[in-house]
Amino acid sequence: MALKALDIFKLLPKTNCKKCGAPTCLAFAMKLAQKQASLDDCPDVSDEAKAELEGSAAPPIRLVTIGSGDSKLEIGNETVMFRHEETFYHQPGIGVIVRDDENVDERIAAIRELQFVRVGTEIGATIVAVENAGGDPAAFAAAAAAVQSLELPTVLIAEDPAAIEAALASCPDKRPLLHAATESNWEAFAKLAKDSGCPLAISAPDVDKLSELSEKVKAAGVEDIILDVTLGNISDTLQALTAIRRLGLKKGVKSLGYPCMTTCRSDNDFENVGECATYVAKYAGIVLTSMSAPEHILPLLTVRQNIYTDPRKPIQVESKLYEVGSVTPESPLLITTNFSLTYYTVEGEVEASRVPAYIGVIDTEGTSVLTAFASDKLTAENVSQFINSDEVKGAVSHKKVVIPGYVTVMSGALKEESGWEVQVGPREASGISKYLKTVWTP
Ligand code: SF4
Repeated sequence: MALKALDIFKLLPKTNCKKCGAPTCLAFAMKLAQKQASLDDCPDVSDEAKAELEGSAAPPIRLVTIGSGDSKLEIGNETVMFRHEETFYHQPGIGVIVRDDENVDERIAAIRELQFVRVGTEIGATIVAVENAGGDPAAFAAAAAAVQSLELPTVLIAEDPAAIEAALASCPDKRPLLHAATESNWEAFAKLAKDSGCPLAISAPDVDKLSELSEKVKAAGVEDIILDVTLGNISDTLQALTAIRRLGLKKGVKSLGYPCMTTCRSDNDFENVGECATYVAKYAGIVLTSMSAPEHILPLLTVRQNIYTDPRKPIQVESKLYEVGSVTPESPLLITTNFSLTYYTVEGEVEASRVPAYIGVIDTEGTSVLTAFASDKLTAENVSQFINSDEVKGAVSHKKVVIPGYVTVMSGALKEESGWEVQVGPREASGISKYLKTVWTP
């Protein structure tokens, strides 16, 4: 468990020598507790105190990395039970299972299509699993090598350690997740994980047995462990995922302080999607599924994006001049804010109107029009600065700007500040189409 500032203070030299940059040892302890300083900054701390403080600084849920390079997946190290308490940090990997006894190339081609753009952000499958379903180590190794073309972190699923060994040789330096050590084979799997430096998934029929198994695997020298919590049904699995998060985070049970994973294989796509989405919400670090159709994967990616969006930071689009349709220098220029929802609503309505137009997006720190205006983030000054920028001058030949109807009161000040003619658009985005077709005067 993380130590409080006073507990840390008791372990410091208490000389107030200031070598760490803090005015006193207590101030340094407070910085350490808030993770704003490193213990290395104090040169006089004793080895015993260092060992104790470093132990307490370890996250209650270990951060585990699968894969290597830019596409590596980091999971774990979460700090809260509920998103509204702070935020969730590490998005779960969502991935498709490729069986080595099916047409691997077709499956890989289907996975390649699982990339989408939603509210201006690219989302897609972030992991892939290969399963030794046919039992032939050579076919498994070939399939493991083939999926590397996706450049995604890989899970190698096999019961036979020899098959895992063969697959490992076909994707060297990729740091795949080895799946899964069980009560009957854990020694061989632990040796493979330790020798290869790869993370290891462990599987057991209930939480108590998972805890026992993780202790054994850790004692064998494996640090990066993932708990496979796939139980018989959605209710048991969800309860186990929740219990593990609570025990690891709140009770400091070290043997359960690891990220979890689940595997969903229902033939009923509706059930499969519902199950996967549930585990994305609570509390799986990896969700593997037998489905691969875009209409089945997109809902899972959408849930993940929503859950893992930091509630303290609104989703924003870049502040700049956007073109909708085949614009000309005479096209209208509408002003809005950089709150994603606001921007995409305006963009959708402009597109639907079929009147090509520019949308000028003002940086209002991700707030909507009324909130931005009320908090002085959408002002005559910053709109004036934007419409008189080189970016706008280089694209628009007229000097007429359309502002949202909700900020009509700004029009006088904006006209004076900018020298532009100010036209007042509709209050709601739904009125944009009618406005552009009937009211806008070029
Ligand atoms: S360097 Fe260490 S002993 Fe000196 S003030 Fe900082 S914490 Fe205290």
